[in-house]
Amino acid sequence: MGLTAAIELTRLGYTVTGISTKNVYDIPSWRAAGYFALVSVKTSPEEQQSLNQIGTDTFRTYQQIEQGVHPYITPDAVKYMPVYCSIDTDAGVEDLEAQGMIPPREYVSLDFGHGVVHPNYVKYMTYFMNTTTLMRQLVHEVGSLHIAIELEEIQTFDQIKEEVIFNCCGLGGRELNADAAMIPVRGHLVTLNDQAGSGHMDYMIYTKVQQNGQERYIYMFPKNVSVTPENPEGISCVGVLGGTFIPNVDLLSPSEQEELDRLEFTDLLNRNAEFFQGHPFKE
Ligand SMILES: Cc1cc2nc3c(=O)[nH]c(=O)nc-3n(C[C@H](O)[C@H](O)[C@H](O)COP(=O)(O)OP(=O)(O)OC[C@H]3O[C@@H](n4cnc5c(N)ncnc54)[C@H](O)[C@@H]3O)c2cc1C
Repeated sequence: MGLTAAIELTRLGYTVTGISTKNVYDIPSWRAAGYFALVSVKTSPEEQQSLNQIGTDTFRTYQQIEQGVHPYITPDAVKYMPVYCSIDTDAGVEDLEAQGMIPPREYVSLDFGHGVVHPNYVKYMTYFMNTTTLMRQLVHEVGSLHIAIELEEIQTFDQIKEEVIFNCCGLGGRELNADAAMIPVRGHLVTLNDQAGSGHMDYMIYTKVQQNGQERYIYMFPKNVSVTPENPEGISCVGVLGGTFIPNVDLLSPSEQEELDRLEFTDLLNRNAEFFQGHPFKE
């Protein structure tokens, strides 16, 4: 958000004096899986309409990128592809379908070809955002425009001397704006290595499933490079599997968080193995 705001403002003729960030790689934008859908974008009734409009405008921007007419993002940053969801899953693309921006849903069964069949699924079309490519291109464009990126943590807006500040701090906005409505949501995902092959790299899965009597999620997105603080140059992968959406994990102690992560990764591997292979996870 910060990189894009700086680029767009510069293109409009404003002088951007710089971008401050407390971290370069250890941030959600590098970690994101890349599913384009209007999920997790519920807000107050006053804000909902403009948020929906932002979602629609963003989809149109991805269409421009795909068509090769975007001024600074190349088509390989996105891929238009099917996403499969159980019929009772809110896919987050229903509004796009209602507006005729994507084709009508198709009712399908998923058959992985080795006896595992999931009936009552829906196929939609939407974008996979290759977030690594996107982020690299945004960073490159910021560099081309000579916008400085400074590594610093902003404690309070008073420490900034410029008159106009664009606050793109994500979760960091909670402290800066004293915004109690901003809450952290922890997501767990695993990356697939080369042994997984590449037969699944042209579709996505985003679906509710039952695990131990609870509603959980399966997702699979074809991310092909994973960037982390330890590996800023990126490690190649053949997809990511997820996922979880766990609010307020920061209220737990560090050891409780560690235990939660351990259990969540175990559950995540088991439910994905059940979903794709029909049996619990085997090392
Ligand atoms: C595992 C995972 C999977 C996800 N998958 C998807 C997906 O499939 N589809 C999707 O749409 N979204 C997904 N998301 C969500 C998506 O990543 C975020 O919504 C998005 O990246 C937020 O971008 P942003 O620019 O607003 O914030 P961020 O990427 O969080 O960037 C905020 C920036 O502000 C800086 N900052 C914060 N506080 C301060 C401060 N006080 N001083 C200085 N700098 C500060 C940070 O260092 C960072 O650079 C996923 C997120 C995760 C973690």
